[in-house]
Amino acid sequence: MDSNIGHVARQLAAARRVVFLCGAGLSVPSGIRAYRSGPNAIWSENVLAWGTFQKFSADPALWWREFWLKAHGDLFRSFTPNAGHHALGRFMGRGHDDLVITQNIDGLHRLAGHPESQLIEIHGRHDRFICAGGAGCEGIDHPVNAVDLSQVDQGVFPTCARCAAPMRPLVLLFDESYDSHGDFQAWRGKKALNDADVLVFVGTSFSVGITHYAVRCAEVSGAKLINVNVEPSPFPQMVNVLGGAEVLLPQLLG
Ligand SMILES: [Zn+2]
Repeated sequence: MDSNIGHVARQLAAARRVVFLCGAGLSVPSGIRAYRSGPNAIWSENVLAWGTFQKFSADPALWWREFWLKAHGDLFRSFTPNAGHHALGRFMGRGHDDLVITQNIDGLHRLAGHPESQLIEIHGRHDRFICAGGAGCEGIDHPVNAVDLSQVDQGVFPTCARCAAPMRPLVLLFDESYDSHGDFQAWRGKKALNDADVLVFVGTSFSVGITHYAVRCAEVSGAKLINVNVEPSPFPQMVNVLGGAEVLLPQLLG
């Protein structure tokens, strides 16, 4: 057992407000490919070329077919939460001040029963879609649960029922900001990061903006920083608890 486990478990139990920042490593034990590292990473080859709104806008049909469905199509299969998600869910039950901010768009936190009031899917979700037509259409603020992707192979992409513009997934693309859509709840996430006394990074590669924001918050607030991952954190001020989240979170959170 990692020698830090007992120490960190006591720290978490005594904390007033814990915010967990979860990345792709949490979903790997559920069978979902990691985004940036490992042999089957989704993003390693094509993120810069394809994962942008600029690329989507240039050719929605191509983007849906060659990028979204090839890189994310397997998310539409059924995956189930793992022991790490369930441990987080139990921990959320201890009080209303704790929060999970996840970068994962796979929906496994919700499947594990995490209450919406204690969950922010800050990179969006794979199973919601909005109009990409611009600020004039209400379809931007009213996501739908499904779009017709049956003819994407023939070059027919889903369009908005209100304005006929292309539909897009409600996910944060790499040339967009966290406040580009209200459903990302960036304001609530940032407030919670500032208010927490312990920040726990779970299975994240520290390659996205919100993790760096969290580290800067802790420099001001004095919050403790804990990294639960298979690899150590690049930040020397973090306590590392090394291993799989599906093994460690049940040990740390009870
Ligand atoms: Zn529209």
